[in-house]
This record gives sequence, C-alpha cells and structure tokens, in this order.
Amino acid sequence: MNKIRYLSDDLFKDNFDGYTLNALHKNEKVINFSPGPAQFPKDIMDELKNDINNSIYGVSPFEISHRSPEFNTILTRVNANMKKLMEIPDDFSIIWTQGGGHGQFSAVPLNLGYLVHKNSQANYIVTGTWSSRAYFEAKKFINAENSLSCKELPIQITNLDENDINIKDNDKYVYLCSNETVNGIEFREDGLPYPNREKLKSSKLIIDMSSDFTMKKINWNNIDVAFACTSKNLGIAGANITIVRTDLIAGNDNVPCVLDWNVYNKANSLYNTPAIYNIYIIDKFLKYYLNKGGIDVLESESKIKSKMIYDTIDESKLYHCVISDKKIRSNINIPFIVGNGNKKLMEKFLYFCYINNIVGLRTKTPFNYQEFDIKEPLRISLYNGVSIDDTARLVDVMKFFEKNY
Ligand code: PMP
Repeated sequence: MNKIRYLSDDLFKDNFDGYTLNALHKNEKVINFSPGPAQFPKDIMDELKNDINNSIYGVSPFEISHRSPEFNTILTRVNANMKKLMEIPDDFSIIWTQGGGHGQFSAVPLNLGYLVHKNSQANYIVTGTWSSRAYFEAKKFINAENSLSCKELPIQITNLDENDINIKDNDKYVYLCSNETVNGIEFREDGLPYPNREKLKSSKLIIDMSSDFTMKKINWNNIDVAFACTSKNLGIAGANITIVRTDLIAGNDNVPCVLDWNVYNKANSLYNTPAIYNIYIIDKFLKYYLNKGGIDVLESESKIKSKMIYDTIDESKLYHCVISDKKIRSNINIPFIVGNGNKKLMEKFLYFCYINNIVGLRTKTPFNYQEFDIKEPLRISLYNGVSIDDTARLVDVMKFFEKNY
C-alpha cells in the first residue's frame, strides 16, 4: 500500500464536495466505500476483464441467449450455489426478477395481498429510507400500517428495542428491512433480532435483505419471504433475488406479469429475458464466496471490518457515530459525522480521502439534509467487496487526518 499523502493547504480546494468517484491517481489502487453499486472483489474483477476478451463460449458474455444450454447451466449452478451458500431450505423457491429492490416493494403487497382482508393489515416496521419507500408503495395496493409511526423522511431512529415492535393478531404479514443502507440500522442475531415465530404468531415475515444478504447467516425458520437487489454483494444493479416459501405463491390474475411470483416461479425465472449479464456475474460471486469458505467466513470478516471502523470512531474526538444504540448499529453501512457537522472540515476530510484514492464516502440521498436542518453524515459501506486491508487503509487515513489537521 502507498504511503499516506499529505494535504498541503495550497492543494486543498474550497468547496470540494466529495461526491466524485473519479479517482485522483488512476494508475494506483482506488478504494470505493460507496453504498451501492459497490466495489467488486478484486479476483472477480480480474476474471471478468479476462472473460470479455477470452470468452470460454466463443461468443462474449453479453451475447448469451437465455434460451441457450449455456445459460441454462449457469442459472442451474447459480440456484444450487445460492442454496448452498445461504443454506436455503427446500420449501423455498428462488425467483430472479428485474426492477431491482423497488420491483419487490410493489411485488410484496401485490403477491401477498390475498392474505390481507377488510379487518386485517400488513405491519410495516419502518426504520429508515427503504422500509419507508416499501410502506408507501404497499399503501397503494393494500391496507398497510406504519406500526412505529415514523414520519416520512428523513427517518432518524437512533434507538430501537425488541419491545418497540408490536405485532397484532390481525397483522397478516410483518415487513422489515434487515439493514437500512442509508440510516445504518441493522437487525441481527447478536443485536436486535428479527421477530421469531412466537412473536409473529400467525403473521408471515417479509424481509428486504438488499444490503446485508450474503453477509450473515440466516435462520430461515422465522422467514417467509426475503428479497435482495443485486448491486451490493451480488454484482451489478438492476436484478433482484426473491426467496419465497413455495406454498405462499398464489396465482392472481391482477398482478402485472413482471412482478408475479407465480409466473416467474413456473417459468424458472425465464418468463421474459432475465438480466443475463447480472446472473453471469452472480455465478462468479457465488463461486468466489464458496471458495473463500462460505457464509461463516463472510460473516466473520464483516464483523472484523465493522469493529475496526467503530473502534476508530468511538475512540476519536473528531468523528461521531450517528447511531448511538450499539445493538442496532449496522455492521455494513456506518453513517458518521465529521467535526460536529462543520462543513469546511468535512470537505477537507473528503479531500484528504480523495488525494489518498478513497472514494464513495459522500453520496446524494433521496432527501436533502440541509432542508431538514440535520447534520449531514458521511457513510462508510463495508460490503463483501471491501477487504480487511481496504478497511485498515481507511482507518489509517482517518487517524492520520485527525492527528494532523
Ligand atoms: N432496499 C435496500 C435496503 C436498498 O439499499 C436499496 C438500494 N440502495 C433498495 C432496496 C432499492 O434497490 P434498487 O435501487 O435496486 O431498486
């Protein structure tokens, strides 16, 4: 790794906003801490670069028909490897769709709407930006309740307890987002766990796992539907995996075909042309994850990386965590404030990261912090593609900045 580059005052440009991913030293290693689309593991990137020039098929990976035997082999292997990696039981079906995570914000109420009647509802546990989006989408189609009574945006939960989550007898399903990518709040076994069957009573549990899927072990006994977009730990944006208990899939003539789990399940996800290149890449991610040692290794690396960052922030006087409650703070997306919200200092920090080839710490969110008079956090995202060495480099850069500037 290169030595840390010093920041001289004549180098620092005023009003450097830090949104750019355009690295300063392009011939050196760049570390991308973006919340997604996110950094690829280096081994996969190297393989892909080689594949385009030397495709094993003769045709390039962009030219593979979804009706070809070659794609059939890839899809079969992807489903088998996914089941193996995530230990998905046989009573679940795996469905690949397009439309990313947002497609499933609509698909969930449309496909499960048959469960919700006049005197019952779907219970949305809104803890951040993405569960809020899902809640407002569900309200278009079914009786959905925002049971924590969060306001629309921006959501600023910093503490949450198991007792805050109340599930009623007539909640037909409970919906939550296991890792709120923007807010940095996570449900996990060693913190705030998902509600279990006892707590759920007869409700089904639906989970948006877009930003923590393939980063921790899942107890499928408590889950009925899980979905994840592909732009964090499964490659490129656009596609989505939905894992659903097969006996919940009902035929319903009113569901648009591209969102209909029944149609996609019957067609083995080949009803329309699937996102071929996404699935081609997912095949590589899954092989890479399994070769690394599987989900236990991914989970322990994830915990190591987040501890490195939280220890740095907790020991610092310059950086502060947005989420005060340790049991809900995310191992994956870590929002933090620089210099108590001083804009100039934050920009100087971003510039220091930039000259050291670290990008992706500031992103535009679906709302504007200034508009709500909230101190804007930066955010460190530690997906599987960010290595322990990459994290150590960020820690060094953060400590160096605090000490010297
Ligand atoms: N859920 C979560 C937790 C997310 O982080 C995102 C995207 N950042 C989405 C859903 C939406 O996914 P997409 O942009 O693929 O529709």
